[in-house]
Amino acid sequence: MNRTLGKTCVVTGAALGIGRACALRLADEGARLALFDVLDSDGIALQDEMRANGHEARYWHVDVSSEVSVRAAVDEVVAHFGGVDVLVNNAGISGINKPTHEISEAEWDRVQGVNVKGVFFCTKHVLPCMRRAGKGSIINLSSIYGLVGAPDVPPYHASKGAVTLMTKTDALLYAADGIRVNSVHPGFIWTPMVAHYLSSSGATDLDSARKELGKLHALGHVGEPDDIAWGVVYLASDESKFMTGAELVIDGGYTAR
Ligand code: NAP
Repeated sequence: MNRTLGKTCVVTGAALGIGRACALRLADEGARLALFDVLDSDGIALQDEMRANGHEARYWHVDVSSEVSVRAAVDEVVAHFGGVDVLVNNAGISGINKPTHEISEAEWDRVQGVNVKGVFFCTKHVLPCMRRAGKGSIINLSSIYGLVGAPDVPPYHASKGAVTLMTKTDALLYAADGIRVNSVHPGFIWTPMVAHYLSSSGATDLDSARKELGKLHALGHVGEPDDIAWGVVYLASDESKFMTGAELVIDGGYTAR
């Protein structure tokens, strides 16, 4: 209890999946939540659910690939809550699933726009307020595919590799300001993104596709959003005060082989 008490946390891509679980767990541990997403009905429903449970939460429509949208929302969060202590750069898309030689420039750019520029824009615009406060924790959702490769979704894997090293660069740049920056590397977690990825790979029976995907992990099954949310709570809290520039791998043993 109270592991994030009094902290204002921005979670991007908060309406569904991993982002939603992070927002709920951070709030349960005492944080105030700024929820950013493009899915307004799910985002507002989450805001209302959290308020009904006694938490401070507010939803903003934010497309993280638009710097104008990010800057305006961060300014409003600072005005509304008085600052930002934690940024969870979670919004992401899997994008087109084609081999490299068939991908158009627009298909490539769309994934980098959300997964890489989105992390850049949100980080850039929370940094002034964190630097003024002399503290902060930035948590970037990379992936197992920011550590190892796979023969599919090339723009996605490239984007997650970029996030892994953006994390280390910013950790080094802003350590002197008391700001920690770490990346989280989930294995397959059962969310709308993964269901979409399996359907776009041709799966017709999602239950058996999920079981097959689970076999890639040493523990024999895919994870659930809370498996990642608890790692995010740790990185958001002062329990991780000596951790920066690190890779928190939560992957059921996928990369242990
Ligand atoms: P998800 O179920 O698709 O949820 C992501 C949320 O982000 C959705 O609400 C999505 O809206 C939103 N979003 C997409 N583009 C956005 C934008 N431009 N601005 C603001 N919000 C946007 O995804 P997830 O599986 O929870 O994944 C969350 C993060 O974890 C991603 O960065 C992903 O790459 C990473 N990750 C996931 C897994 C996994 O197995 N699930 C594994 C490794 C890493 P739409 O539905 O409209 O796109």
